[in-house]
Amino acid sequence: MTDPMFDVVVVGAGPAGCAAALEAARAGRTVALVERGPFPGSKNVYGGVVYGRILDELVEDWWEKMPVERWVTRRSTMVMTQDQALTVDFRSQDWAAPPYNGATVHRAELDSWLASLAVEAGAVLVTSTVATGLLRDARGRVTGVRTDRPDGDLTASVVIACDGVNSFLAKEAGLYPSGPTVEHTTLGVKETLALPREVIEERFAVTGREGVDLEILGCTQSIPGGGFLYTHLDSVSIGVVVGLKGLAAAKVRPEDLLAGLKAHPAIAPLIRGAELKEYSAHLIPEGGFDTIPDLVGDGILVAGDAASMCLAAGIWLEGVNFALGAGMYAGRAAAAAVARGDCSRMGLSGYRRMLEASFVLADHRKLRRAPGLLFSERFQQQYPALICDVVQGLFHVDNPRPKPGALRLLRTAARRHGVRARHLVADALNGLRTFG
Ligand SMILES: Cc1cc2nc3c(=O)[nH]c(=O)nc-3n(C[C@H](O)[C@H](O)[C@H](O)COP(=O)(O)OP(=O)(O)OC[C@H]3O[C@@H](n4cnc5c(N)ncnc54)[C@H](O)[C@@H]3O)c2cc1C
Repeated sequence: MTDPMFDVVVVGAGPAGCAAALEAARAGRTVALVERGPFPGSKNVYGGVVYGRILDELVEDWWEKMPVERWVTRRSTMVMTQDQALTVDFRSQDWAAPPYNGATVHRAELDSWLASLAVEAGAVLVTSTVATGLLRDARGRVTGVRTDRPDGDLTASVVIACDGVNSFLAKEAGLYPSGPTVEHTTLGVKETLALPREVIEERFAVTGREGVDLEILGCTQSIPGGGFLYTHLDSVSIGVVVGLKGLAAAKVRPEDLLAGLKAHPAIAPLIRGAELKEYSAHLIPEGGFDTIPDLVGDGILVAGDAASMCLAAGIWLEGVNFALGAGMYAGRAAAAAVARGDCSRMGLSGYRRMLEASFVLADHRKLRRAPGLLFSERFQQQYPALICDVVQGLFHVDNPRPKPGALRLLRTAARRHGVRARHLVADALNGLRTFG
């Protein structure tokens, strides 16, 4: 048998693929990083925030090198109804200095930067190239990928599939035969809106490179989901993420939901006068731990969204950090297997062990109930209305009548919105079990 062209072929130059290629190349392996877009990030969509702690393991002093727009120093959660909004707003100046916490970064710049690190480490970046299928030997072991290039196939000892949501490579390998179901997939739609830098600083109460991560609950009508608004240097990203099943049932267009969010009285003043720069949409695998597929096959590993590793439950959306972590471990496991000369399923199984020992599977396991809890009708519709009504009652001044107590307000709001006491208690306990 002829030697493979590469030790490792990584498909997809998103965060998972770039981290995998970087680690495998650093370990001295020959690596090809295959990307269908004309450059890394050209096809990719996300909200805009990276929580970068995992980068500490990948890039020394990454905060001095990453193309950061703003450092997240304010994290806010807004609960809204059509005409009310309650915001819990936290800021920390600790997050405005190294080693920072989160950052806003444009996606094309993030992926291009990550890919450049892999190239510096020795990986070969092959752009404008679609991996169209898997190559296998007579025993069924994966031995590379087919591509749409005239010069065709790329053979390798290990293929790392980082081709994002609905990975057909993972399906073809038999690791994720059905892919994420409609129930476990959401659609994110996002606009990038240009605003002058000083206007952003004034409206969002930030200075210099400080920035805001605002997550929103209650902005998607009857459809499970949530919204977000992030500040860049001279633009903001605003978007909604909604369950595909609910979207189809409600017969609502996602762009109408986004228009509704932009017109909300709590949001409209923040983006007044902004100019639309870009509209984009993308699917997200949101099923959490219970939908993560088999991750290892003979000659193949799966990482990132391709393995449903996005932790997205209504008001949170963390995917890049999980993709970076999984890609990093996949690259290390592949390099070690090549060095040992055993790229079988058994030889590559260190990948799963590394994931289990890291935040990637630990967080997913801990929060396995979160998608079900936060996507329930009560969390999505009844609780935002109930919370807003209770707070409105507390803040409303109704003299000369005596002030109602908080419990009475809660009972009245619960009755009005059809929430039973036993549900409140059960959800509170469930919430404690999930997030406690
Ligand atoms: C609207 C929206 C908002 C989001 N907001 C955030 C956020 O703020 N923070 C956060 O952490 N996460 C966010 N996410 C989730 C995050 O974007 C993903 O979890 C993350 O991008 C996953 O990285 P990945 O490398 O696994 O996959 P991807 O980023 O999807 O990368 C896959 C790559 O593979 C390439 N590819 C696919 N098929 C092929 C093929 N056959 N051949 C060659 N190349 C191929 C694609 O072009 C792409 O470059 C958001 C997602 C959406 C949709």
